[in-house]
Amino acid sequence: MNPVDALARLKVKPDEVTRVVITHIHFDHVGGMEIFPKAFPKAKFYVQRKELDFWIRNPIAKRRPFQGITDPIANKALASLEGTKRLVVVDGDKSIAPGMTLLLAPGHTVGLQAVMVNTAKGKVILASDCAHIHRSFKEDIPSCLITDMVAWLKSYDKLRSKTEIDLIFPGHDVMMLEQFPKVAEDVTRLA
Ligand SMILES: [Zn+2]
Repeated sequence: MNPVDALARLKVKPDEVTRVVITHIHFDHVGGMEIFPKAFPKAKFYVQRKELDFWIRNPIAKRRPFQGITDPIANKALASLEGTKRLVVVDGDKSIAPGMTLLLAPGHTVGLQAVMVNTAKGKVILASDCAHIHRSFKEDIPSCLITDMVAWLKSYDKLRSKTEIDLIFPGHDVMMLEQFPKVAEDVTRLA
């Protein structure tokens, strides 16, 4: 689904979007990057330096195990934004707005970042694919596409030290659609 259409369901207009966090550069998290700078004309895009360097410059990212999970068109679009004000390249943890902090959490990829947000329920972490399903955080089991298992387990420790485990949300778990209040078609309120 185009994020512009998804946000329209929440009555958020594209030019109201000022920050877009790229959690990691897998095709299903960065696909469409070639249209996003124009689609969101006032947005800055946030990516970790390690993640950008790996996918844009490291020849290993072109090797077979990585080929099926990357989107060359999106990567090219990202590379073209480098050095402009539209792309904010981050080294490690960083506060990007009041109550909104990026947390470097590698393992699934070399420079995945999660987003920690203050909410009425407390600190919520949108962990992206640091775990694909919530059970992984509870049972200490990394899921698929492991780049660095040791880093991944340390990232689990890091995220779990920041808030309650039930406030850490994974990247691909249907429970987020099924167990939370629906606020629009295919959109739920997590906190
Ligand atoms: Zn991923």
